[in-house]
Order: sequence, then C-alpha cells, then structure tokens
Amino acid sequence: MTNGDARAALASAEPVVFWSDRPDAPAPAPALIGSISADLTIIGGGFTGLWAAIQALEDDQGLRVVLIESEWCGFGASSRNGGFCVASLTHGLENGISHWPNEIETLVAMGSENLDAIEDTVHRYGIKADFRRTAEVGVATEPWHLESMEEAVETHRRFGQDAALLDADQTQALLHSPTYIGGVSVRGDVALVDPARLCWGLRAAAESLGASVYERSPVQAIEPDGTGLTVHASRGNVRSRRVIVATNAYRAPIRKPSRYVIPVYDHVLMTEPLSDAQMASIGWEGREGIGDVSNQFHYYRLSEDNRILWGGYDATYHYRNGVDPSHDQSEETHGMLAEHFFETFPQLEGVQFTHRWGGPIGTTTRFTATWGTAHSGMLSWAAGYTGLGVGSSRFGARVALDLVFGESTSRTELEMVRRKPFPFPPEPFRWAGVQMTRKAIQRSDRRDGRRGPWLGLLDRFGIGFDS
Ligand SMILES: Cc1cc2nc3c(=O)[nH]c(=O)nc-3n(C[C@H](O)[C@H](O)[C@H](O)COP(=O)(O)OP(=O)(O)OC[C@H]3O[C@@H](n4cnc5c(N)ncnc54)[C@H](O)[C@@H]3O)c2cc1C
Repeated sequence: MTNGDARAALASAEPVVFWSDRPDAPAPAPALIGSISADLTIIGGGFTGLWAAIQALEDDQGLRVVLIESEWCGFGASSRNGGFCVASLTHGLENGISHWPNEIETLVAMGSENLDAIEDTVHRYGIKADFRRTAEVGVATEPWHLESMEEAVETHRRFGQDAALLDADQTQALLHSPTYIGGVSVRGDVALVDPARLCWGLRAAAESLGASVYERSPVQAIEPDGTGLTVHASRGNVRSRRVIVATNAYRAPIRKPSRYVIPVYDHVLMTEPLSDAQMASIGWEGREGIGDVSNQFHYYRLSEDNRILWGGYDATYHYRNGVDPSHDQSEETHGMLAEHFFETFPQLEGVQFTHRWGGPIGTTTRFTATWGTAHSGMLSWAAGYTGLGVGSSRFGARVALDLVFGESTSRTELEMVRRKPFPFPPEPFRWAGVQMTRKAIQRSDRRDGRRGPWLGLLDRFGIGFDS
C-alpha cells in the first residue's frame, strides 16, 4: 500500500471529535446571566473542573458550587483524548522516579487510590462511560526499543505492578502487526474509558449533588472585591470566597500558569468499525491499550464498537501558547498518522477513517501537573498533566481543593505539589526552544535513541518536552 493510498483513507473523515459527535450528548446547560454568589467558583468544565465540583460537594453537601465553562463541559482535552485512564500521577513510573525518588512510593500508592476512586465514582453514579480495566502494552518496533524493556519490567515489579516482558511472538499473539519485535505489558493500573461520556456523566453527577453548571460563558476576568473574588463571565458574574481555575492548556484568566504550562497539539484518527473478519486479522482479544516506545510514540485502542483510535506521534506547539480551533486539523500530521497506521496494520488495507481531530495538551517541563495559588490563597489552579491527565486530573482537582480551603494534607506536603517545575522561557525563546527540542527528539528516534547534546543537556536539568 502506498503512502498516497494511506492518505486516501482520510478522504471522508469528518473533521470532528468522534467521542462527542454522538446523539447522547446532554442538552447544554444555561449561560451565566446576571449576578450570583457562591462558596466556590470553578472555571473550566473539563475533568479537573468537574472532579473539583464533585469532590467538594461530596466533602460538604451544603457548599454552593458554581462551575463556569466557556463552551460546554468536556469541550477541551477532556473529550478529545485517547481515553487511557492511568493510575500514574507522574507521567509514568520512570519519570516519577527520576523527579521524586524519595516520594515515588507515596505517589504510586496515591495514584492507585485515585484510579480506584474514579472507578468507584463511575459505578456509584451509574456513569456509562465504558470504563474497563485492562493492560497497557508498550510495543517495540526497533531493536533499540528492546534495550530498556527488561529494566522497565523490573522497575514496575519493584512497585508491586503486574508487569511482563514479551518476546516478538508473545506480542504478536496479543495483536498482530508485522512491525512488533517485543513488548512490555503492565496489567491493572490502567483503564480504558469513553472520555466524552465520562465528562457528561461527571457533569450529571456534579449537578445531582447540587452544583450549578453554566456553559457558553467564557470567563474574562477575576477581580478581588474586599473579602472575596468576583469572576466576570461574558454576560454575568459570580462572587465567592474561593475560586479554582481549571482551564489547563487554555489561556487562564490569571497570568501565573502560563509560565509553567504550554499547550501542545496532539492529533487523533478514528477508523470505521472493523468487521469480524478485520478484527480476526488483528487479534486484540484482550482489548489492551497500546503505545509504542519511541520518543515520538503512537497510542491506540479499540472503541466499544470496534473502531481503532490511533493518535500521537507529532506534538506541535504554536507561537505564544497558541490555542485555536484552526490547530485541530493538520493535513501533515493526520496524513502521517494514516501512513503509520497502515504500516502497522497492512492487513487492514481498505479500512477508512471516519473522524480526525486534535486538541491542546497542557504540558510542563517535568510532564506532570503543577499547582499554585493567587489572591492571598482565595484562588488555586491545577494544570499541566501532559498526555496523562484523564486519571490524574481527579488528583489534580483534589489538591486544588486542599489549597483553596487552606488545608494541609498528605497531598499538599508532597514535593511534587510544593515545588514548581522549571519554567518555560518567554517568547520568542519558548518557541525556538520547543522547535529545537522537537527536532532533537526526531533525530534521536532516527539514531537508535541516542540523545545527542541538546537532549543530554535538558536531561541533566531534568527538563524536557513531551505530549
Ligand atoms: C488528543 C489528546 C489525546 C490525549 N490522550 C490522553 C490519554 O489517552 N490519556 C490521558 O490520561 N490523557 C490524555 N490526554 C490529556 C488529557 O485529555 C488532559 O490532561 C485532561 O483532559 C485535562 O483536563 P482539564 O480539565 O484539566 O483540561 P480541559 O479538558 O482542557 O478543560 C479545560 C476547560 O476549560 C475551559 N475554559 C478555558 N478557558 C476558559 C475560560 N476563560 N472560561 C471558562 N472556561 C474556560 C475549556 O473550554 C475547557 O473545557 C490527551 C489530550 C489530547 C488533546
């Protein structure tokens, strides 16, 4: 199959997000009109904002919680992702060990508790989001990928995780691709979820607990007004003593997060549902979540109706933390993803893509969330989960609540929470630094993983760029 044929499979793909392009999307919530008051105002209705509302109200049923979203709940990364809901709070175990060797055991335990709590919430509120625990398999497609796999398995096992090293035949037995030469499987600490339905279900859960949700109400400013803060949206405002900003990769209505968090665009394709014969040709009976282990990696999974979601590889940054709907579509990246798809599964020649989209991931130089406060502690924010925020955003919201309620907890004592990541430089150095790092990552993948001087320098400072 030629690259042209692969790209032709995109011809009828709708430029919309598969997960939210479905008839069971809830009716929109009202816009905020006029002046109201609350005990806690949450800005942003993605996973972070929704989890903040739910956890606040589960702690204190009498709290008056208002959530304000500029579009609709889930509009951002939360409905556009791969749906890998992973226990890790640290963008993977290895990244956690390298940044927080002294608290990694606590972070792993908190991550497992967090994933259990997500599962429990999904069941308690009857959220139909196809939440399924499964294994995550990292596949090797180049000999240099194999070098670190044995050590990775030992590391996971040291932390009590059910990890196994797979040879080429064992990897092929899970999922048939001529490109696989080995793999690592880690079972139990990941679930796959339908992300838009999770957002919709969390919104309904928050409302059932008493939260007032307003959509199509972009927040434009936050002003101190004596003993509280007034949050100004386009057609109304809320006055409250406490505010949480949960806008992640989007421009926040406060300055501070943009020093530490930048938006990088990640792109995704979704195929049509596979026929029984096509499913038989790839195997995949365990329906694991798959990622390859290059620096530039693909992630893929099955949907409930046997489509393949195929995303990742190329993370793009737009000047001045640019976030705009025009970045959702990229001929270059979507075309490249289509080519890689058919290289991985040549037996699926003829399969068409039905949806193509992209979205902004908030990333930090350490690839994990960061938190902060403003306005004398009356406001807190959480952002920057990089590509693993589906699970860790619940923890992010929990910490933001601890901070805004002035509570000292085992979470707020974590070094990961107390210390900020290395900030990104201002423009134009930010843009130049990201482009230089992207090129160095591409070179490293072409040269058998050799890091080169620029990545070596960043590694020494414990900083980097990822999606
Ligand atoms: C393509 C893609 C694939 C991904 N795949 C995975 C994956 O498989 N697993 C994983 O763990 N993570 C993945 N992620 C990352 C994950 O989706 C995010 O980390 C997570 O959804 C972040 O949630 P959030 O609520 O913090 O941010 P968002 O979901 O982006 O929510 C922020 C919300 O704030 C709103 N907002 C912005 N400005 C304002 C304002 N001024 N006023 C009011 N509202 C405002 C936005 O409209 C948005 O709804 C992926 C992300 C993308 C883009």
